[in-house]
Amino acid sequence: MADKQITVTSPLLPDLEEFIPMLRDIWDRKWLTNNGHYHKELEKALADYLGVQYISLFTNGTLPLITALQALEVRGEVITTPYSFVATTHSIWWNGLKPVFVDVEEKTGNIDPEKIEAAITPRTTAIMPVHVYGTPCDTKRIQEIADQHHLKVIYDAAHAFGVQVNRESVLKHGDMSTLSFHATKVYNTIEGGALVCHDEAIKKHIDYLKNFGFAGETTVVAPGINSKMDEIRSAYGLLNLKQVDKAIAQRKRIAEIYRQGLKDVAGIRMLEDVENVRHNYAYFPIFINEEYSISRDALYAKLKEHNILGRRYFYPLISSFDSYKNLDSANPANLPIANKLADQVLCLPMFATLTDEDIYRIIDIVSTMK
Ligand SMILES: *Cc1c(COP(=O)(O)O)cnc(C)c1O
Repeated sequence: MADKQITVTSPLLPDLEEFIPMLRDIWDRKWLTNNGHYHKELEKALADYLGVQYISLFTNGTLPLITALQALEVRGEVITTPYSFVATTHSIWWNGLKPVFVDVEEKTGNIDPEKIEAAITPRTTAIMPVHVYGTPCDTKRIQEIADQHHLKVIYDAAHAFGVQVNRESVLKHGDMSTLSFHATKVYNTIEGGALVCHDEAIKKHIDYLKNFGFAGETTVVAPGINSKMDEIRSAYGLLNLKQVDKAIAQRKRIAEIYRQGLKDVAGIRMLEDVENVRHNYAYFPIFINEEYSISRDALYAKLKEHNILGRRYFYPLISSFDSYKNLDSANPANLPIANKLADQVLCLPMFATLTDEDIYRIIDIVSTMK
């Protein structure tokens, strides 16, 4: 008999019995979108949970990136990382801006602050780093560089829901941070996202931008977009928020079992927890080097034969897609570490409801591969 299928992730689902009364309430109210009751509640609950002052809900995690660049009136060139999900660079392109790729740190996969300055030109106006796998970027060094060169900083924090440094939200850094609440993420509203900023007037402007630019019935203050979160997903999001801490605790436990089970396997490197960071264990990447018995792609295929679907996040690099590969900064010689990580990485299944039996089976296959 074939093994049961284990995907790399599985969505955190709210209790259906709790969801149904909320749906009835939405039906009774007959208010489905446009800053409704549950939308307001979720915005407030997320601000409290995340420990941020100003957060605007969006309909996915890509539009907040696009909108952040609009709200900050970013022009010219934006320094970013090729080691991310394509949406990061796409958001720059959609604003008619030029992405400039900078290499990453081997240890974390995050943009290497020491390589940022060499990429700054007179046209550079912003930096868009990513907290890859939820590991915080070197926010202090990045801000120093940004201040020195008068650059805006927008963090793509799609992986960093609930991550804290010294008990403070990682979302406090930079001019803005974006979140994704896609079904595959640590916290989901099916599709959804948010934009965090640090100023009431800017939040107001962001709220206009995500509603076509409307500031009143007959007033349009800017060419906005439509990215409004609806009531059904807001209610769903309120329920999921109640169980996300438990889900993160389960992820932590799974990460500990993986680390213990794979620590003596030659040729596998894993991420370590960083001191004073509350991690969210969003992913469990392993990096396969020459000392491992087979190649990364062979391991990926072997796991697939066992119906275990790992994912190569992030391979291919964004800089190797057709849309971007002709940029000067996309040259692999400019991005040796990002290319190395893309060739080595394999994310193992990681989600709150992964069973011990399945985790040990995965460890067994990965550690006895010949
Ligand atoms: C998921 C993700 C996004 C996009 O979010 P969506 O909600 O899918 O639009 C952006 N950046 C990163 C790094 C992501 O992982």
